[in-house]
Amino acid sequence: MQLPINALAMGFSTKDVHGAHDHLVGRHGEGLKLAVLVLSRDSYNIANTIRDSLGKRPARLPDTLWQMLRAHSPIRTVEEEQQELFKDAKPCTIPDTTFARAVDRALRACFALLRFTDHIQVVYIRGSTGKVDVYFDKGQGTLKIHCRWLDFACMHHRSFCRPWSPSNLADTNAPFFCCHVVEELLVRSIASMFKAHPTSRPAEIKFMRQIGRRLRYLPHSINLKPYPGGILVSWEDNEAESFRTLGPSGPDYHVVLHEGNCASGETALLHEKAALPNEVMSCGCRQQFARQTHRMCLFTGLSHASTYYAMIALNEGRAFYGVPSDRISPRPNEDVKATLR
Ligand SMILES: [Zn+2]
Ligand SMILES: [Zn+2]
Repeated sequence: MQLPINALAMGFSTKDVHGAHDHLVGRHGEGLKLAVLVLSRDSYNIANTIRDSLGKRPARLPDTLWQMLRAHSPIRTVEEEQQELFKDAKPCTIPDTTFARAVDRALRACFALLRFTDHIQVVYIRGSTGKVDVYFDKGQGTLKIHCRWLDFACMHHRSFCRPWSPSNLADTNAPFFCCHVVEELLVRSIASMFKAHPTSRPAEIKFMRQIGRRLRYLPHSINLKPYPGGILVSWEDNEAESFRTLGPSGPDYHVVLHEGNCASGETALLHEKAALPNEVMSCGCRQQFARQTHRMCLFTGLSHASTYYAMIALNEGRAFYGVPSDRISPRPNEDVKATLR
């Protein structure tokens, strides 16, 4: 429906309509006006949103006209317009940073935990700078998430979670301290998915506590160091040191060193069940166990002609895997002789 621009001004003004609220209309040259909302104390911010985020020119609109347009044409509030734009925004690829990969994997691992959400596809999109973070497309079972959630700087723009940030954040085995980002995103995602059927408060608390525990034990800073015929795997977790030193030696981690061409391990989000040392991995790759207080293990007898990568999770059913490590090769065994000579 095309509306002439002057129709909005014809016969109406704030003085004409006694007691009516003012509205702001987003104008973009001539044509249909999309964004309308009540003028209030924060109208300055709203006007900015219309201008900057929606690329339209704000103008006042009397209540009567707003009601008329609302009843007979697809006129939208700013929030509705932002939602519409968000639905159609273009998808983007996940940046190759530890932060982006960890947030994406951990969020999908959270969904994989629940029967109601384990089928959901996550897509990251380049939305506008508006307030919309997530949109759940029920028909397609797709959760669209603004790509700002994969950007460390964006997520900490105005509120830092630490007094300083590590200098190696761009590395592939960079530390990941921002479990709070996963939890914040999860809360928004759940709100978007279960709008019609809000989850019960106790169920929500239980779920978030399970998530919090899994995120605390999520392995990060996974590092592979080559040795002659061997690889030393080390990692970190986010349990507080004060708690770690209280207990005897902490729970076990399960470390699987997959061969470079074993792709099956790389996509796993959840550690299926507690593994036993005498079991053989279904893919035939090597495994070891290490205490949380130790957080390292050495694999020996490896071929320097092969590459390897590590997948690490707490040795429990449905624990979260850390981001897969880089692929490296052991040093040749001749190096030992060279070192000894
Ligand atoms: Zn943070
Ligand atoms: Zn394998």
